[in-house]
Amino acid sequence: MDWPRLPRFGRDTAWFYSSAAIVAVAGLIKLRQGVADYTQTETHCYQSVRTNSEVEPYVNCFSVSPTGKFSKVFQAGEGTELVKNANPGFVMPGLWDGHGHLLQYGEFLNSVDLFGSTSMNEVRSRVRNYAKENPGTGSKDEWLRGVGWDQMALGKMPTADDLAEDKELKDLYIMLDRVDVHCIWVSQAVLDLLPDSIPDVPGGEIVRDPGMGVFCDNAMDMVMALWPKPDNKKKQQFVKSAMENLNEVGLVGMHDAGVTPGNLNLYKELAGRDDWTLRVYAMIECNERNTFCPNEVEKYISPDGFLSIKSVKLFADGALGSWGSALIDPYTDRPDTSGSLLVNASELVYNTIAWANEGFQVNIHAIGDLANRYAIDAMVAALRLLCPDEPLSLCQSYHRFRIEHSQIIHPDDQARMHAVGIIPSIQPTHATSDMAYAEKRLGKERTAKEAYRMRSLLDVNPVLGSDFPVEPPNPFQGIYAAVTRRSPHTGKGTDDSPDGWYTEEALDLDQAIRGFTEGPAYGGFTKTGVIKPGAYADWIVLDAPLEKIDIEDLRSLKVRETWVAGKKVYSRD
Ligand SMILES: [Zn+2]
Repeated sequence: MDWPRLPRFGRDTAWFYSSAAIVAVAGLIKLRQGVADYTQTETHCYQSVRTNSEVEPYVNCFSVSPTGKFSKVFQAGEGTELVKNANPGFVMPGLWDGHGHLLQYGEFLNSVDLFGSTSMNEVRSRVRNYAKENPGTGSKDEWLRGVGWDQMALGKMPTADDLAEDKELKDLYIMLDRVDVHCIWVSQAVLDLLPDSIPDVPGGEIVRDPGMGVFCDNAMDMVMALWPKPDNKKKQQFVKSAMENLNEVGLVGMHDAGVTPGNLNLYKELAGRDDWTLRVYAMIECNERNTFCPNEVEKYISPDGFLSIKSVKLFADGALGSWGSALIDPYTDRPDTSGSLLVNASELVYNTIAWANEGFQVNIHAIGDLANRYAIDAMVAALRLLCPDEPLSLCQSYHRFRIEHSQIIHPDDQARMHAVGIIPSIQPTHATSDMAYAEKRLGKERTAKEAYRMRSLLDVNPVLGSDFPVEPPNPFQGIYAAVTRRSPHTGKGTDDSPDGWYTEEALDLDQAIRGFTEGPAYGGFTKTGVIKPGAYADWIVLDAPLEKIDIEDLRSLKVRETWVAGKKVYSRD
């Protein structure tokens, strides 16, 4: 049955699923049947429509039902009124980001942008300008936030003293996320809130040399606990500005990789409103990471498909940049460490089984090859219990467990992913950002055999995304990175080379498009990413068919229009 988009039903799942509510919805549909624009099917014709469907790959028209789904997809004949009055432009299914962070992106849009800064002076000047433009920020109640610094680009690990060198910043409360959001750099005012002597934290790092100021992974928690969290009004503003920006780059949906129960309640409240213009497939992140918290949150699929909660995010390790990802063998450039797991193997197995048993899809963050191994172990253990009499791959096709990032995977474990069908969730722009240092961390052989696989994982339905705000959300830049294995920012490979990085793992254009459409649809149990009857009527309009555009032009491609559920949510003009 098709559900119309009825905002008030977005609020309360239990109530919605009661039979009384269903009768009420049915009654409403009936009542409204007399209203012309509510029941009327709308037909849209364009110069051409790429459907992503094998049945009719290219047509020129489709109809949209009042419930916001495609009802008919067809080729109108030459000379017909429909073709004569067709809209200019070339259509393809709306794109999805398979791994991003909605609220954090909104927060990023409302904070100081440090991406690409190459010196302490540049960081200080950007922070100073931001503080000037946003009076009041930097107080004890509203810390000045920023994201995008990278100690490699700055030439040293930053400290609180580096911020204090600027007298206008000296007394401000400042917290700046590193480019991969796995570390924070804070000012002296924030440090002063912490106890004098701070013990080390398992699964985290407190950087003490060259001075205090940076906290990574689990060590971030003690600072985050002090940070005055934005209230719901602020968060609502974050969601709105994030969705506007995401629609603008051609996104119609995203997989939100870790949302706390409190924020999920806010999402439920907002998801029925007119300015919620993006489909969100949210993964639960318990208030205490890597736990089982079914009492804090319930499964929820909004009737109009704008919000789905039926998956959970667990974390196996940290990031490669900070030597935080857990490797089987030590880092090549730091033989004293193999990184660290954020959870022990048996806990990961326990949580995976517990969530899967409740019917949740389990998505585990795993970067290093040890973390990926443990993630696969946990998933296989859960599948064995869930379907004792069925092949693992069949069982996996119902549960669709995913590994978020799937960045460095031992060949033996790649074989297990293929055999079981475990879904890799990959960010092509992580490969092209990390290519500057990945080989230093991993060595040549490990990089060549294990790291940043794409093409060799094609048979297991990869989900592609950007991890925004870690990388910009523009999916065309992701497609570019997947196809060329070069940076969409520079158009170059490593060390300014014109060649791509390990291009044997590159995708072709169709495969990359699938990763941003069908991949997230399968990995998120959503009828999307395709223009065919019954699928959500989400599409984008381009100035030329994507396959006719020079690949280099994808780096700066601008979408003409974005439509979600049959409604225009972005127009360039
Ligand atoms: Zn992420």
